[in-house]
Amino acid sequence: MARKLLIDGELRQTATDEKQYDFDLFVIGAGSGGVRASRTSAAFGAKVAICELPFHPVSSEVIGGVGGTCVIRGCVPKKILVYAAQFRGEFEDSRNFGWELSDEIGFNWKKLLHNKTQEIIRLNGIYKRLLSNAGVTMFEGEGKLIDAHLVEVTQPDGTAKQYSAKHILIATGSRAQLVNIPGKELAITSDEALSLDELPKRAVILGGGYIAVEFASIWRGMGAEVDLFYRKELPLRGFDDEMRAVVARNLEGRGIRLHPGTNLSELQQSEDGIRVLTDHGDQITTDVVLFATGRLPNTKRLNLQAVGVDVDKTGAVKVDEYSRTTVPNIWAVGDVTNRINLTPVALMEGTCFSKTVFGRQPTKPDYINVPCAVFCIPPLSVVGLNEQQALEQTKSDILVYTSSFNPMKNTISGRQEKTTMKLVVDAETDEVLGASMCGPDAPEIMQGIAVALKCGATKAQFDSTVGIHPSAAEEFVTMRSITRRVAAGTKLKTNL
Ligand code: NDP
Repeated sequence: MARKLLIDGELRQTATDEKQYDFDLFVIGAGSGGVRASRTSAAFGAKVAICELPFHPVSSEVIGGVGGTCVIRGCVPKKILVYAAQFRGEFEDSRNFGWELSDEIGFNWKKLLHNKTQEIIRLNGIYKRLLSNAGVTMFEGEGKLIDAHLVEVTQPDGTAKQYSAKHILIATGSRAQLVNIPGKELAITSDEALSLDELPKRAVILGGGYIAVEFASIWRGMGAEVDLFYRKELPLRGFDDEMRAVVARNLEGRGIRLHPGTNLSELQQSEDGIRVLTDHGDQITTDVVLFATGRLPNTKRLNLQAVGVDVDKTGAVKVDEYSRTTVPNIWAVGDVTNRINLTPVALMEGTCFSKTVFGRQPTKPDYINVPCAVFCIPPLSVVGLNEQQALEQTKSDILVYTSSFNPMKNTISGRQEKTTMKLVVDAETDEVLGASMCGPDAPEIMQGIAVALKCGATKAQFDSTVGIHPSAAEEFVTMRSITRRVAAGTKLKTNL
């Protein structure tokens, strides 16, 4: 039966009057983006196949698993560990609320690890079922391109089979990278950190990004001595500088030793652990060294160059606004394209791809007001423009509203940790351009604020919204006094 496909607004006849392919779509990589694109394309009537490497919690060139990084060795297991780590603060806070706890509170890492692994195995199964229920054909093995319409899948037993497809989608994600210093083989990445046999008593972390501050909070929450080294003045480059300072203060307040402006120069095995040498000439001995120094796209083994799919200098697949690569029938979504490397963004890109190619609705992913959260303890969550970006991207003055307050719970618990919120407003249009919060439940609150920003909410509309009392969230609708007005064109000190 002939079906009609819309590609960039152009209707084309397929199937009977064109070359026959094994599949309408072959997807390489069953992570967030690949699974979403497969299911939504199948729902539009496409005949879809997907290939993915065999499952294991720690990835390699030949290990992966249906569900991908987010489910197997990223967001999901990380959040489970964050939940576990948060209990430490809860136990401390509970005493002034009348709870009498024994001083010897035990923590069983192996039990947590077992339960975490069971959960990701369960989710791996659910993702497989989602694919098969959607009618997607699954192949276990490593996919690579042979030509613009041919994918070869090498199965775990080494045998290879080839499948033709009208469209090919690359959704192979990214992998953590080790920094190239002597002794780097002694370090681990977040993959191993999520599956360590023993909980470290002492941990050194290199990096100031998402993974670094999240693992610092996780290990500290579980009782480890944590030293966090990063080369800037503040962690979380790219976030609002004021909020970065709040995160740094909170990490320190929770007992994490911060080493700003410091890099690691060498790792050595010593009798009592790993000796870590810094570029300041200091040394420290630890049980584990985590490199949380960024991730690189998984493109090396896809044979992209031979087929004409261009990559940038980091190896990321170059795509246009519709996720189309330099070969017209080959597409790419998710971290492998290095746009905004977040699961919900990969999902959006996967959905837009299906609508464009199989749904007769050419759709570009919308990267405006993408909210995100860093799950350090307490978490940071933001949406929209930070103060620096607002000054760069608008021609108006900027009104900044900030609120730093003692959350109600801390008045009894005695915890010395303020919650901080910030709104950045266009002084001419009154539109709220950005919102940030560092404090308990920030990601839960920010999701709602993101809807408001997506609707173009003004500060007056925030002000006319009735608060929920008593909550921290109500502060977002009660920030009446302007903290400062920053003149258009002002250049803030950046590169902290
Ligand atoms: P990030 O890009 O967030 O941070 C990398 C950090 O490593 C930066 O602080 C960077 O420093 C530092 N770094 C890079 N190279 C070196 C080097 N050679 N020597 C010393 N330091 C170095 O990467 P992550 O690994 O933390 O996370 C990867 C991505 O995964 C994130 O960008 C995010 O997209 C995603 N992610 C999202 C999460 C969430 O949504 N909660 C959680 C975890 C990951 P500098 O700033 O100086 O360049």
